[in-house]
Amino acid sequence: MVESIAERITHIRSNLPESVRLIAVTKQVSVEAMRAAYAAGIRDFGENRVQEAEEKQAQLKDLPQITWHLIGHLQSNKAVKALEQFQWIHSVDSLRLAQRLDRLAKELSCTPNICLQVKILPDPNKYGWIIPQLLADLPELNRCQNLKIQGLMTIPPQGLDHLQTQSLFEKTHELAAEISQKNFSRINIRELSMGMSEDYNLAINAGSTMIRLGRIIFGERRTTGADMLSNTT
Ligand SMILES: *Cc1c(COP(=O)(O)O)cnc(C)c1O
Repeated sequence: MVESIAERITHIRSNLPESVRLIAVTKQVSVEAMRAAYAAGIRDFGENRVQEAEEKQAQLKDLPQITWHLIGHLQSNKAVKALEQFQWIHSVDSLRLAQRLDRLAKELSCTPNICLQVKILPDPNKYGWIIPQLLADLPELNRCQNLKIQGLMTIPPQGLDHLQTQSLFEKTHELAAEISQKNFSRINIRELSMGMSEDYNLAINAGSTMIRLGRIIFGERRTTGADMLSNTT
């Protein structure tokens, strides 16, 4: 494994198709390490907690042109802050949350970029729509005028082998195509937010457009098993 954060980023980048956006996941990562990533060209940062992101954003104010991505479960009482701080919310995981974000976005006069988080396989440790429920909710989601619903996001359950993971990413891609065919005027799924340190090559093979990489850039997090299993806030 190559040594510095900059070297790791350069190495990962050199193998990425142009169509893939690299989001550096910086939960539990220091602002110094984030500055190193920025210096190496990273402009997309992903955080899973609103509060942690707020503190870091204050410390990184001098760095222009960062796009902030919320990738962790959003509690409804933090929705306003999330809209103020993030340009992308990948973890919209229920109709209720989408409708709340839509109302608040109108009040705040913003138009957040949204991914709908889906569970392709049953997984009690993760948030997200199961497929039939998502399909049933699409007409209501299409009424959320202030949201730019642009993508699907998924996190595979723990313990899948490569083939199972590949198949899960392919199913996510197929689901995106199925949704597009329904021609909802305001749901324009063109992004697939999938792929983390362990599986991003499989995700890219299946058409991912946004990979979310943490450990492979910044090293292991000091973390609990429970944190790894879910993307809970
Ligand atoms: C932590 C996290 C990542 C990054 O995971 P790594 O294994 O460190 O690459 C990506 N997506 C979500 C939703 C996460 O919570």
